[in-house]
Amino acid sequence: MRTTISKQFRWEMGHRLPMHKGLCRNIHGHSYEAHIVLRGELDDQGMVMDYFDMKGLIQSKVDELDHAFLCDASDTVVLEFLREHNLKHVIVDFPTTAENIASMLCKHVVSMLPSEHRLDMVKIRLFETEKTYAEVEQHL
Ligand SMILES: [Zn+2]
Repeated sequence: MRTTISKQFRWEMGHRLPMHKGLCRNIHGHSYEAHIVLRGELDDQGMVMDYFDMKGLIQSKVDELDHAFLCDASDTVVLEFLREHNLKHVIVDFPTTAENIASMLCKHVVSMLPSEHRLDMVKIRLFETEKTYAEVEQHL
Protein backbone atom coordinates (compact mmCIF):
# COMPACT_ATOMS: atom_id res chain seq x y z
CA MET A 1 0.00 0.00 0.00
CA ARG A 2 1.34 3.46 -0.86
CA THR A 3 2.34 5.17 2.38
CA THR A 4 3.85 8.51 3.40
CA ILE A 5 6.42 9.06 6.15
CA SER A 6 8.00 12.26 7.42
CA LYS A 7 10.89 13.40 9.60
CA GLN A 8 11.65 16.90 10.88
CA PHE A 9 14.97 18.74 11.01
CA ARG A 10 15.82 22.13 12.54
CA TRP A 11 18.69 24.57 12.17
CA GLU A 12 19.49 28.25 12.66
CA MET A 13 20.52 30.28 9.63
CA GLY A 14 21.02 33.88 8.59
CA HIS A 15 19.98 35.34 5.27
CA ARG A 16 18.59 38.42 3.54
CA LEU A 17 16.78 39.27 0.32
CA PRO A 18 18.80 42.17 -1.15
CA MET A 19 16.12 43.12 -3.70
CA HIS A 20 13.21 43.00 -1.22
CA LYS A 21 11.38 46.32 -0.72
CA GLY A 22 10.59 45.66 2.96
CA LEU A 23 12.26 44.33 6.09
CA CYS A 24 13.63 41.18 4.44
CA ARG A 25 16.42 43.16 2.77
CA ASN A 26 18.06 43.45 6.20
CA ILE A 27 20.42 40.83 7.60
CA HIS A 28 18.36 38.54 9.84
CA GLY A 29 17.85 34.87 10.61
CA HIS A 30 15.30 32.14 11.18
CA SER A 31 14.97 28.91 13.09
CA TYR A 32 14.28 26.84 10.00
CA GLU A 33 12.37 23.58 10.18
CA ALA A 34 12.22 21.16 7.27
CA HIS A 35 9.82 18.25 7.04
CA ILE A 36 11.16 15.62 4.70
CA VAL A 37 8.23 13.64 3.31
CA LEU A 38 8.71 10.37 1.41
CA ARG A 39 5.94 8.40 -0.29
CA GLY A 40 6.25 4.88 -1.55
CA GLU A 41 5.43 1.21 -1.20
CA LEU A 42 6.22 -0.71 1.98
CA ASP A 43 9.05 -3.22 2.04
CA ASP A 44 8.73 -6.64 3.68
CA GLN A 45 9.69 -5.01 7.00
CA GLY A 46 6.62 -2.76 6.75
CA MET A 47 8.69 0.39 6.08
CA VAL A 48 8.78 3.02 3.33
CA MET A 49 12.30 3.80 4.56
CA ASP A 50 14.02 3.39 7.92
CA TYR A 51 13.84 6.76 9.77
CA PHE A 52 17.55 6.35 10.54
CA ASP A 53 18.28 6.21 6.80
CA MET A 54 16.09 9.29 6.22
CA LYS A 55 18.45 11.23 8.46
CA GLY A 56 21.33 10.28 6.15
CA LEU A 57 19.54 11.93 3.20
CA ILE A 58 19.67 15.41 4.74
CA GLN A 59 21.81 15.63 7.90
CA SER A 60 25.04 16.63 6.12
CA LYS A 61 23.19 19.49 4.38
CA VAL A 62 21.59 20.61 7.68
CA ASP A 63 25.04 20.61 9.34
CA GLU A 64 26.42 22.67 6.45
CA LEU A 65 23.62 25.25 6.82
CA ASP A 66 23.41 25.41 10.64
CA HIS A 67 24.62 28.76 12.02
CA ALA A 68 25.73 29.78 8.53
CA PHE A 69 24.68 32.77 6.47
CA LEU A 70 22.98 31.62 3.27
CA CYS A 71 24.26 34.14 0.75
CA ASP A 72 22.97 34.83 -2.74
CA ALA A 73 26.08 34.99 -4.96
CA SER A 74 24.88 38.32 -6.35
CA ASP A 75 24.88 39.86 -2.85
CA THR A 76 28.47 41.07 -3.10
CA VAL A 77 28.15 43.53 -0.17
CA VAL A 78 27.48 40.78 2.36
CA LEU A 79 29.64 38.18 0.64
CA GLU A 80 32.75 40.37 0.89
CA PHE A 81 32.06 40.95 4.60
CA LEU A 82 31.60 37.22 5.29
CA ARG A 83 34.81 36.35 3.49
CA GLU A 84 36.83 39.16 5.06
CA HIS A 85 35.86 38.06 8.58
CA ASN A 86 35.98 34.32 7.86
CA LEU A 87 32.34 33.78 8.92
CA LYS A 88 30.46 30.56 8.14
CA HIS A 89 28.49 30.96 4.94
CA VAL A 90 27.02 28.96 2.08
CA ILE A 91 26.83 30.58 -1.36
CA VAL A 92 23.87 29.83 -3.62
CA ASP A 93 22.88 31.14 -7.05
CA PHE A 94 19.32 32.12 -6.14
CA PRO A 95 17.44 34.55 -3.86
CA THR A 96 17.25 32.84 -0.47
CA THR A 97 13.45 32.64 -0.22
CA ALA A 98 11.78 29.74 1.61
CA GLU A 99 10.55 28.53 -1.80
CA ASN A 100 14.07 28.34 -3.23
CA ILE A 101 15.56 26.79 -0.09
CA ALA A 102 12.85 24.10 -0.13
CA SER A 103 13.67 23.41 -3.78
CA MET A 104 17.40 23.14 -2.99
CA LEU A 105 16.69 20.66 -0.18
CA CYS A 106 14.33 18.61 -2.34
CA LYS A 107 16.97 18.27 -5.09
CA HIS A 108 19.55 17.35 -2.46
CA VAL A 109 17.37 14.61 -0.94
CA VAL A 110 16.61 13.16 -4.39
CA SER A 111 20.34 13.14 -5.20
CA MET A 112 21.07 11.28 -1.96
CA LEU A 113 18.52 8.49 -2.51
CA PRO A 114 19.96 4.99 -2.85
CA SER A 115 19.85 3.55 -6.37
CA GLU A 116 17.27 0.99 -5.21
CA HIS A 117 14.18 2.41 -3.50
CA ARG A 118 10.41 2.13 -3.64
CA LEU A 119 9.62 5.86 -3.49
CA ASP A 120 7.43 7.69 -5.98
CA MET A 121 7.53 11.15 -4.38
CA VAL A 122 9.84 13.33 -2.27
CA LYS A 123 8.43 16.47 -0.67
CA ILE A 124 10.04 19.19 1.43
CA ARG A 125 7.91 21.44 3.61
CA LEU A 126 10.18 24.24 4.82
CA PHE A 127 9.00 26.40 7.72
CA GLU A 128 10.67 29.80 7.87
CA THR A 129 8.51 30.81 10.84
CA GLU A 130 5.93 28.78 12.75
CA LYS A 131 3.20 30.29 10.55
CA THR A 132 4.83 30.29 7.12
CA TYR A 133 6.13 27.47 4.97
CA ALA A 134 6.99 26.68 1.38
CA GLU A 135 6.52 23.23 -0.07
CA VAL A 136 8.17 21.58 -3.04
CA GLU A 137 7.55 18.07 -4.29
CA GLN A 138 9.23 15.97 -6.91
CA HIS A 139 7.68 12.87 -8.40
CA LEU A 140 10.10 10.06 -9.14
ZN1 LIG B 1 13.95 35.89 6.33
